[in-house]
Amino acid sequence: MQNRTSKQGSVVLVALLLTALFGCNNQTSSQAQQSPTPVTSANQLKVVTTFLPMYWFTKAVTGDTAQVEILIPPGTEVHDYQATPANAQAIANADILVKNGIGFEEFLEATVANAKNSQLKEIDASASIKPLDNATPEEHARDRVDEHAEGNPHVWLDPVLAKQQVANIRDGLIAANPENKATFQANATAYMQKLEALDKEFQESLQKYPNCTFVTFHDAYPYLANRYQIKQVAVVEIPEDQLSPTDIQTTINAVKKYNVKALFGEPGTDNKLLTALSKDLNLTLQPLDSLESGTLDPQHYFTAMRANLQSLESACQ
Ligand SMILES: [Zn+2]
Repeated sequence: MQNRTSKQGSVVLVALLLTALFGCNNQTSSQAQQSPTPVTSANQLKVVTTFLPMYWFTKAVTGDTAQVEILIPPGTEVHDYQATPANAQAIANADILVKNGIGFEEFLEATVANAKNSQLKEIDASASIKPLDNATPEEHARDRVDEHAEGNPHVWLDPVLAKQQVANIRDGLIAANPENKATFQANATAYMQKLEALDKEFQESLQKYPNCTFVTFHDAYPYLANRYQIKQVAVVEIPEDQLSPTDIQTTINAVKKYNVKALFGEPGTDNKLLTALSKDLNLTLQPLDSLESGTLDPQHYFTAMRANLQSLESACQ
């Protein structure tokens, strides 16, 4: 019985091999006559985005109607990003470039100039958004050069402004590619409805803790704080590997001055100094995610923001 099965198996195998061989030959010859890129992807809109939230918002609006790329790989520090030759190449081949704006993507101007793409259309996701200044000098530990002279760029951390960014991206995409207007509109509406629901959750949760004050080591949350009437005291403007003695003194002063409920660090970073400092000050150290890193799934915005809401709630209680 076993023998017979294996003989039958061999016959089938030989037949399969022959088919595969002939199949291969056929494919090779027909492929050689075709153009190197499949027609569908050559006709697809090519959109390049700068960093994660811009990628999410754009991908959410385009769905599968466009090829969406990200210039700054998630996990790479975005504030001091240095462009690569591959970035210029991607912009050279793109139809549309989506940026956060408000001076966040400092590398972009020179990279776009290098790309020499006269057909490129740029979408500034923050167009029509009035930027807030960076933290007031009294809240700054350091007399450092203003990194964002145009204002604080972290608008994506306020769900209401994120919605505005999605609308701006949608309108820019429609202007560049009117054939897909209906898809862009439907996709944008679905994502914006989720942002509205998220905004309601933030409102309902945080209205219980008016003026709840929290300390961050990244000046990323002034829009979020303004929206929900809580207060961010940013000791450090841009996340750093190590806190300076001045940063520590500023933290201690802020904790004395305000009724500070918690210290917040970026999730996934193991900052021993921050942990020790929070213990000394008898405050909890909570994660707060600026969404400058994470997964490429557009839905990750909601997961990470709900985690932020939980951190804020448990700190403010
Ligand atoms: Zn930031």
